[in-house]
Amino acid sequence: MKSSRRTFLITSLGVASTFALSRQALADAPKVAETDPTAQALGYKEDASKVDKAKFAKYAAGQDCGNCSFFQGKATDAYAGCPMFAGKQVASKGWCSAYNKKA
Ligand code: SF4
Repeated sequence: MKSSRRTFLITSLGVASTFALSRQALADAPKVAETDPTAQALGYKEDASKVDKAKFAKYAAGQDCGNCSFFQGKATDAYAGCPMFAGKQVASKGWCSAYNKKA
């Protein structure tokens, strides 16, 4: 019993520190460049108002990463992670065609 509790504690600590590390790593992660091939495929722009509206007709004014369900930061974060761009950060004022309004 004692040993399983210890194992649990060690595992929890490991998970917690991995999480803390990945948060830190993400804060230092490079910002997505608009020239990035994934960014080009998804029509990502750092400034949502510069989205090519002819090409991405689904874009509507007011949509940006900061209010997208995929944005991994707080609404006040200027940049945060996004699963479309693993290991990189997107601008809260940005937009891409995978945009999905936060519920
Ligand atoms: S999926 Fe959402 S948060 Fe990620 S780049 Fe596109 S609009 Fe921004």
